[in-house]
Formats: sequence, structure tokens, C-alpha cells
Amino acid sequence: MIDIEWSKLPFAYFKTDYNVRTYFRDGKWGEVELSSSEYINIHMAASSLHYGQEAFEGLKAFRGSDGKIRVFRWEENFKRMETTAHGIVMQPVPMSIFRESLLKVVKMNEKYIPPFGTGASLYIRPLLIGSGACVGVKPADEYLFLVFVGPVGPYFKEGFSPVNIQIARDVDRAAPLGTGAFKVGGNYAASLSSGERAHHDGYAACLYLDPKEKRFIDECGPANFFGIKGNTYVTPLSTSILPSITNKSLMTLAEDMGLKVERRPVAVEELAEFDEVGACGTAAVISPIKLIQDRELGTVYNYCKDGKAGPVSTKLYNRLRAIQYGEEADKFNWNTIIE
Ligand SMILES: *Cc1c(COP(=O)(O)O)cnc(C)c1O
Repeated sequence: MIDIEWSKLPFAYFKTDYNVRTYFRDGKWGEVELSSSEYINIHMAASSLHYGQEAFEGLKAFRGSDGKIRVFRWEENFKRMETTAHGIVMQPVPMSIFRESLLKVVKMNEKYIPPFGTGASLYIRPLLIGSGACVGVKPADEYLFLVFVGPVGPYFKEGFSPVNIQIARDVDRAAPLGTGAFKVGGNYAASLSSGERAHHDGYAACLYLDPKEKRFIDECGPANFFGIKGNTYVTPLSTSILPSITNKSLMTLAEDMGLKVERRPVAVEELAEFDEVGACGTAAVISPIKLIQDRELGTVYNYCKDGKAGPVSTKLYNRLRAIQYGEEADKFNWNTIIE
């Protein structure tokens, strides 16, 4: 066993032994190659560096209560990366290469998968970049698909405890019909200034509003937003939201638990009507929200009156975690067990 304080891991880069790489050159994908280098060697005129032809994914592998390794819904990440690749005119990665890369990189770094019970997991980061040289603006003719992994703790250092969020009306992370629905680095670049300001002001993340009218809720930093109102799970519908696989899973679980699920535009004022609100994504599953401050208007919305996450969020969180760690039957067939 390696000597890692599993339960104290941050959500950060962690060097492991191997990553895997596949190159698209001369019109075809090559073999999945194992590498022990943390560096890539690419052309200085690569389209990813100049014109943002870059897509990534994020998913996790878990060591279960039975000792088995489970990867959560990787086919969904594959499909989303394919959609993103089409969205910014990159060569999509074939499913067989995506799958082989994932299984190989997890297996080869098996000793870095945190033990069951530590709350930690193995984060998997697939990356697809234009590596071909371009000076004129056009899609590259060469691509690199790379997957690295690393053990991580929860995304928000608070773990499953409520965070404060800031509404920023003076910044958009994506345009109404832009790249918001694709998992590209450019959306993150656009959100860094407001995100850093939120951190500086003492908030965990920014809540972005719809970039057209600023009337509706879009996304919560690098996560989707949801609210619970009575027996209903409500999550925004918008052309500039990244479709979260965690949110999709929570909607399924909510329905399974007898809740009504509504995916529709959510007006900012509706924040006053929710019993519980939260952000959801692979990194934290659910980050319950205790306070939302509207930076420009000064409005403040309060939740979690007793300082704890609400009962519905807690139930959803526990159920999803239980499925990921193999403690509850995988009734929707979400896990791939790695032998
Ligand atoms: C990745 C991401 C999410 C969360 O998606 P999951 O599939 O649940 O991890 C939400 N919003 C943005 C902007 C993202 O990039």
C-alpha cells in the first residue's frame, strides 16, 4: 500500500504512475499508448493553444464496500465528449478507444484508488485537444486524446455541508447560443474572473444567470443547479447549460423516490420559494447551498436554517453515493465494474 492520507485529500492534481494517449494522424486513430510522463509534446501552433480546440471530461472510479472498482456512467461521458467534439469541430474519439483508455488507466493506477470508507475516489480526466498546427483559423487535422487519473477528496472543502453562493450579473460564462452546452476550457476561462471574485468575497462559487435576459438561473460555477419545492425537484432548462450527468442521475433518483421532476426555465425570484437548493456535479455529487447573495441587487436568500443540508438533498446524496460505492443495488445499470 502507498502512504496517502486518503481522508485528507484535496480536490487537486495528484501525480500517479501512468496516463494513456492516442493520436489521430493521417486521417486515423492510432493505438492506445501507456505513458509515465506528465508532459505532452505538441506543436507550438497547435489549434488547441490558439483557437481553443480543447474538450475535457470528468468522471470517477470508486472502491466499493465489496472491494470492487466501479466506474460511474462512463458511456454518458463518452457521448458528451462526442457531442462536444462535434460542437467545436474536433475529431470525435471512437467509443472503443474511450473505453479501452479508461479501463487501462484505472487498472494501471489501481493502487491510487482510495479505500472504501475514506470518502475519497479516483478522478478520471479525459482530454481531447487539437494538436495539428494551424495559423489560419480552421479545425486541426491532428488530435490527441489523453486520459489521466488521480485520487481526490470532495470538491468543496466543506464536503457535504452547505456553501454560500454569489449571483454575478455583470459576467456571463457562455453566450445564449454559444459553447455553454459543451465541456470546453473556454467556458471555464470565461468564468475565472467572476469565480475568483466570488472566492475573494467569501463564496464557494458564482451562480450565473441566463446570458440573454438575466431573468433565469443558468449554472452554479462548474455545477448544475437544482431546487426542491415541496415534492418537486426543479432544475433549469437553457441552451447555455452543460448537461450534467450527476443532475441526470439525480432526476432519475428523484422520480424513483416519488418526487415530481421539472426541467424548465427557473426565474431568479423563484429562489425565494425553494425549500432546499443545491449545486450538483461529479466532483461533489451535491453541494447544498445555505445562502445566495445577489451581488448587484443586494438580495439575500437563506436556506438550511439549522446549518445542515435539507432532507431531500440528503436523501438524494446518500442514494447516489450508495450506488457508486456498491452499497445499494445498481438498479439503473450505472456502474461498470473493472476486474
Ligand atoms: C462538468 C460540468 C458540470 C457537471 O457535470 P457532471 O457530468 O455532473 O460532472 C456542470 N457544469 C459545468 C459547466 C461543467 O463543466
